[in-house]
Amino acid sequence: MLHPLPDDLLKLPHRREVPFARLTTLGVGGVCHWLFEPTTEAEASQFVRTCHREGLEFRVLGGGSNLVVLGDVTAPVLRLRLPFAVECHGTEMTAPASHGHIALAEAAAQAGLSGLEWASGIPGSLGGAIRMNAGAYGHEWVQVLIRYRFLTPEGELIEKAPEPGEFQYRKSWFGREHVVLSATASLVEGDPARIRAQVAEYRGRRGTSQPLSKRNAGCIFKNPPGASAGRLIDAAGLKGMRVGDAEVSVEHGNFLVNLGHARAEDFAELMAQVRDQVRATHGVELEPEVEIWR
Ligand SMILES: Cc1cc2nc3c(=O)[nH]c(=O)nc-3n(C[C@H](O)[C@H](O)[C@H](O)COP(=O)(O)OP(=O)(O)OC[C@H]3O[C@@H](n4cnc5c(N)ncnc54)[C@H](O)[C@@H]3O)c2cc1C
Repeated sequence: MLHPLPDDLLKLPHRREVPFARLTTLGVGGVCHWLFEPTTEAEASQFVRTCHREGLEFRVLGGGSNLVVLGDVTAPVLRLRLPFAVECHGTEMTAPASHGHIALAEAAAQAGLSGLEWASGIPGSLGGAIRMNAGAYGHEWVQVLIRYRFLTPEGELIEKAPEPGEFQYRKSWFGREHVVLSATASLVEGDPARIRAQVAEYRGRRGTSQPLSKRNAGCIFKNPPGASAGRLIDAAGLKGMRVGDAEVSVEHGNFLVNLGHARAEDFAELMAQVRDQVRATHGVELEPEVEIWR
């Protein structure tokens, strides 16, 4: 049931009844009943403070590239719409959390700064990448992150340097109601031609190994210690397995793709079947890398 929201919340920029199919790269899910899109940090802070005051739970959405939504969401959803602005001070680069992740990696490359080449094929927002400690090819955000700003669930703004243990493999210490506002990376000056060549090489690898022409949410499961989830799924003979229009990609076993008309329940069922079969074949328990919203 939908509860009425307080007037001061409704004064903030928002939209109603937005299908998650339009908010996520996988293209499934129910309806987002309340989508709040603050365009300033002050509005974001007001949103969080008001929700806290009213005891309202909320969710934070970035680019929706690591998300499987399994139904309607009645809780208010916050998606930052801060102006795109990248600041460079020497080799330090700061951007708002809503900045496109790929665009940020490109901005670094254009500025002749090295350290984010690996990020150039990871979609979504900077905020989502910090929250997930996104990474690829042996690199991850925590290696370059030197400062970040965020709102606590009570709406307090904090700026700090990362501390040991805060960011681990595809996870961070943030709870569901922390909101990353911006992040600063420490990069190094590099030869622009070499940076571009490295970006092209990483992109090329993705192009040949990932099903980029179909809707997906990246790797569905985390790699278990010392193993590759994709190889385990492949060795269990699961590539091409389908539930409705949800399919284990034939190109990459750890990608589930939407062949066109998949429903959220199809992905939930396919994920369950993949986990069961990998457990039965290899005795390994796969843990989702994607966030699941129920
Ligand atoms: C084709 C493809 C390739 C991919 N390759 C990789 C890869 O190589 N490596 C990798 O790590 N990931 C990869 N991903 C997954 C995904 O792109 C990353 O995890 C990305 O960083 C998620 O960012 P997002 O903005 O889309 O987050 P969302 O999917 O919107 O959200 C993910 C989580 O972050 C939280 N969140 C989002 N924004 C904020 C914020 N401002 N403050 C606090 N919390 C926030 C959400 O609440 C949620 O818990 C890939 C995805 C696709 C579709």
